[in-house]
Amino acid sequence: MNIHEYQAKEILGSFGIAVPRGRVALTSDQVERAAKEMGGRCIVKAQIYAGGRGKAGGVKLVHHPEQAQELAKDLFGRKLVTPQTGPQGLKVRRILVEEAVEIAREFYLSITLDRETSRYCLIASAEGGVEIEEVAQKSPEKIHILTIDPFTGLRPYQARKIALALGLKGSICEDCVDLILNLYRCCTERDCFLVEINPLVITKAGWLMAMDAKVNFDDNSMFRHREYPDMQDYSQLDPLEITAGKFDLSYIKLQGNIGCMVNGAGLAMATLDVLKESGGEPANFLDVGGGATREKVTEAFKIILQDADVKGVFVNIFGGIMRCDIIAQGIIEAASEVHCALPIVVRMDGSKVEEGKKLLMQSGLNVQIGNNLGDGATRIVQMLQAGRPN
Ligand code: GDP
Ligand code: MN
Repeated sequence: MNIHEYQAKEILGSFGIAVPRGRVALTSDQVERAAKEMGGRCIVKAQIYAGGRGKAGGVKLVHHPEQAQELAKDLFGRKLVTPQTGPQGLKVRRILVEEAVEIAREFYLSITLDRETSRYCLIASAEGGVEIEEVAQKSPEKIHILTIDPFTGLRPYQARKIALALGLKGSICEDCVDLILNLYRCCTERDCFLVEINPLVITKAGWLMAMDAKVNFDDNSMFRHREYPDMQDYSQLDPLEITAGKFDLSYIKLQGNIGCMVNGAGLAMATLDVLKESGGEPANFLDVGGGATREKVTEAFKIILQDADVKGVFVNIFGGIMRCDIIAQGIIEAASEVHCALPIVVRMDGSKVEEGKKLLMQSGLNVQIGNNLGDGATRIVQMLQAGRPN
């Protein structure tokens, strides 16, 4: 789960990490007032659930409160497009106004969960401020990585090794050791999936400070943090993703035109692969989970049909716990309710499969049955091609 930069900085601050003085604003008048409070000269930062804002014009230094207000008027409601937002961009609805800080040096520092080792992994680099992916590609030797043993936790000597590798000496090196240890404490206590400070800076006055912050909570820890859902800014999420979340379905938006409904993550991956091999482009995939109920199937189908990019639907379901005839009823119910005339291909297998197929064939929907995964994928691609005007 994502949160905004200003929220991430509040959290880091509560763990003793220095962050610039700042205020979040919802209107351009509030931005002006906040700018006055910061002394006129300040940084105006658009708050969206994506990085790369600097280059997209979402982070700017201003010199007067009026200038901050003008900039805010331009930013509010505008969609910022960065390499992380996708082509549709993300709308700015909150702005963080911060005291301007003179920067001497910029570093990169993050802790994230490494799925391969199932451990927290610390990443640091003296090449901060820029995109870390770029550093990793061009000069991997400039990136320092440490896998943290969950039993011993992060030890001060390990943090010191990292601080020294960043080229820090003396008291600022010790400050950095404290900061790294605090960051690790933040990760474990708050169940973070990612905590990233880019840039971590040394100010001209000689202080270590988190200039930017990204915090991502581990979705698996939600049961321990009842307050997390309230921290979410739903305006930054795809509305269909929110609806899917309510029904405990996982919906992932993709770039093509075929909506995919599957049950189980493995089947989802296989379906996307085979669909691509057959020349199709998935618009999304919606995983209804192992024990999908008829209600879930209905909701899932409705969500897929609400995606305007969807020109056809491919259903690939294994009816193990759930019977195929009930899945078929769910599809028919949803498709009839929203008057869906789009081509649909259903490939299903498992209990009561013949009954399920029969229901679909009698439904009056624009539906075909796939005999197997490959056949189903080929059919939906062909149905879309046939329907395309020349
Ligand atoms: P991002 O582009 O979304 O990662 O946004 P950042 O918060 O990292 O801002 C982009 C860049 O703006 C940073 O890398 C800094 O170089 C610069 N920046 C941000 N805040 C300040 C500040 O207070 N003073 C100065 N001089 N530069 C800043
Ligand atoms: Mn940044």
